[in-house]
Amino acid sequence: MKTDETIVVGGGIAGLMCAAKLANAGRRVTVLEASAALGGRAATYEEQGYRLNFGGHALYWPDEKRLRAVGVRISGGHLRADRGSVLWRGELSAWPLPPRVGRSALGVTERAALLRVLAGVLTRHPERLTDQSAADWIDAHSRTPGVAGMLGALLRLSSYGARLDAMPAEIAVGMVRAAAVRPVRYLDGGWVSIVDGLAARVRAGGGRIETSTRVTGLLGEEQVRGVCIADGTERLAGSVVLAGLSPTRTDRLLANVGGALPPTATVTGGRVTAACLDVALRRLPAGAISFALGLDEPLYLSTHSRYATLAPGEGAVVHLMRYDDGQPQSDTEMRGHLERLFDLAQPGWRDELIHARFAPRMIVDHLLPVPGAGLASRPDITDAGVAGVILAGDWVGPAGWLVGSSLASGAAAADAVLAAATTARRRGSPTATITQAA
Ligand SMILES: Cc1cc2nc3c(=O)[nH]c(=O)nc-3n(C[C@H](O)[C@H](O)[C@H](O)COP(=O)(O)OP(=O)(O)OC[C@H]3O[C@@H](n4cnc5c(N)ncnc54)[C@H](O)[C@@H]3O)c2cc1C
Repeated sequence: MKTDETIVVGGGIAGLMCAAKLANAGRRVTVLEASAALGGRAATYEEQGYRLNFGGHALYWPDEKRLRAVGVRISGGHLRADRGSVLWRGELSAWPLPPRVGRSALGVTERAALLRVLAGVLTRHPERLTDQSAADWIDAHSRTPGVAGMLGALLRLSSYGARLDAMPAEIAVGMVRAAAVRPVRYLDGGWVSIVDGLAARVRAGGGRIETSTRVTGLLGEEQVRGVCIADGTERLAGSVVLAGLSPTRTDRLLANVGGALPPTATVTGGRVTAACLDVALRRLPAGAISFALGLDEPLYLSTHSRYATLAPGEGAVVHLMRYDDGQPQSDTEMRGHLERLFDLAQPGWRDELIHARFAPRMIVDHLLPVPGAGLASRPDITDAGVAGVILAGDWVGPAGWLVGSSLASGAAAADAVLAAATTARRRGSPTATITQAA
């Protein structure tokens, strides 16, 4: 029996974006999610009335635009990093930009130099930096350790890439540029508001969503016919979108129907990870610094509840992170670095503690393209090697970074299904065939 239904495997942002677009266009679509709840890495959990993302999450304006295009609107405040502090040589001092009177880690000349570099970021196109690493770019734009430290901190903050010699400048500088055009937004209620918004679009368009449904295999030979579920049942489909699964999991599923990912999915700079400390406080301690960024250590602290509704009453939600700079560190050492920054920025936080969750190795992005190859080297949505199977996720396609990639590839996967359906209709064929990249 043939069907024109699309099955989307994975109920994270990539899968939900794809399904929302298909449902909006009136296509039959079902999302199958292995976990009991939707959202994947964009899920938010609740603890005594506090809402915490799994690691600090900030939305960039190009992604807000991508969400608006499928009818999802979000709310929340924009981060004011300039009201924060920087950590330099073990001490906190005022954010050095814009240059102003007061104690600063950077001298007046350094602050002016920094402003000039950032003005250049706004006027030049990051796509032209394809053959440079973020470390090369910093070297070319800084003459003092202070300026280099501040540029490194901004690139890490925007891209999560702390192995600066492995991070393509195109990505890191592009993200700094996006944040300079319009500051990032922290979301009311947490990132689950994106998940709920997309899921509502899927259901409003007649799409179905099933949680606690793990896909264990694909059906078909050369042309996909559906999927196998962990409970032993099968679901038929005309096309299958593998959305947000890791490259390894995706490759394993493809192997049983004769497909395989191109080598670009494995020859990379590896994953981008971060150690995260997510905290709920009864109230902020007196004199607390709400935002701090390490210049000579890859550290981040931000009080998300200052900009978004996340905590009851006077409560505060604070996210701390140590970006992975490639230095081997034990979990205890990483937690120690985070707590030392917390002690400096918000002394007394332990007395106000309601809840803390430490996760030493969160996968922020599955695939770091190598400098010189850049975003264009990532596998494309049609690179599965099996007709009817499409890929989406944070490691797929030439557009976006972090959730930007998940949204852009999810939308592109839906476009591929819609285009194939239009072609099939023109030819009078009952099912659509999604051709694979040569
Ligand atoms: C600590 C941290 C901080 C971050 N901060 C930011 C930020 O500030 N800005 C930003 O833009 N991005 C950020 N990100 C990245 C962002 O969270 C991800 O890009 C995005 O959520 C990934 O969505 P996805 O759908 O591609 O993948 P996932 O969220 O991983 O979703 C994949 C889904 O597939 C499901 N699944 C897997 N296997 C199967 C199977 N066999 N059958 C059925 N379902 C299956 C999983 O359960 C999961 O729900 C951050 C990530 C982390 C970890």
